[in-house]
Amino acid sequence: MAENTSFITLEESLARKLYLDWRRRNAVEIVTRAARLGNAGEWSAAKRAVKELSFAATIEANFGFIEQTSLKSYLLGESFFTEGRVKDTLLARGDEPIPLGVTLAASTMLAGLEQSIRRVQEQAMLVLDEAEAEETQAAEEAAGGMVVLKAVIVGLASKLNTAVVSGGAAIDTAANLSTSRLASFGALSQAQQNGQGRFQISEVLDRRTCAVCRRMHGKIFSVAPALAQTEEALLTSNPMELASSNPWPSTSRQGITDLTSMTDEELTGKGWNKPPFHSGCRGILVPVGDVGASSIISFVPLATGLTGAEAAAAEIASATS
Ligand SMILES: [Zn+2]
Repeated sequence: MAENTSFITLEESLARKLYLDWRRRNAVEIVTRAARLGNAGEWSAAKRAVKELSFAATIEANFGFIEQTSLKSYLLGESFFTEGRVKDTLLARGDEPIPLGVTLAASTMLAGLEQSIRRVQEQAMLVLDEAEAEETQAAEEAAGGMVVLKAVIVGLASKLNTAVVSGGAAIDTAANLSTSRLASFGALSQAQQNGQGRFQISEVLDRRTCAVCRRMHGKIFSVAPALAQTEEALLTSNPMELASSNPWPSTSRQGITDLTSMTDEELTGKGWNKPPFHSGCRGILVPVGDVGASSIISFVPLATGLTGAEAAAAEIASATS
């Protein structure tokens, strides 16, 4: 699984760099300021402060690094179809210009993150609303002579910090989806150029592997439709639009049952023919035959009475026995 590992390393180093940069450049200062203003009872100023939470400066400062990682992800994907040799890939040999989907990856990532930051702001706003309500209530009780205590907002900074940590999850998602799509894009471009009409999906099989990916491991699909879909996804500048036109496969029991019975044509129609199958997906595309037949799980309907985790453990055990 060396190939999956290098893809995961790329994605994690991108996510970590962006997250640390965002904390240093933006998040920590704003959380500190909003907490100080809140503790001083200046609630509207505190709320104005959390509106300043933004990924924009981080993306701008790291544009070159994101472009580099995008290029590496694409090259890595191509190398899955050149027996792991990067120097033999189309791009490294100068046989193709840098594709638009790669060039635009940093801007697409920024568009996605700008939507996510609004949810982070809303969560921080909720923390401030609750703290303000608590303070008002304490002040009223004090005025009524019930309690003579200055309202102390316990742990406001730590609550704000927790709300803001969800920004880290947004960065993880954006980094994963971007690198995963670019690796698939590279793999498909190289496969097409090689004249290989089909590819196989290779997943990491461990206890974290979801029911969707366990079913997709080893499956074989056509290159042409997958290449067109991946290219389109990379050129979609509005990630919300993408989320509504290409929903992820459902991991509910019913969703998994349906997925198991779908034909390859149906899966292709839904866009569920190549990774990513969700954010955080570790699947990659490899030449047909690279996935050992013994590691492919043959699925029987999920046994009743098992929890999702128990069913997963049973499936993995049968795959690795
Ligand atoms: Zn999965």
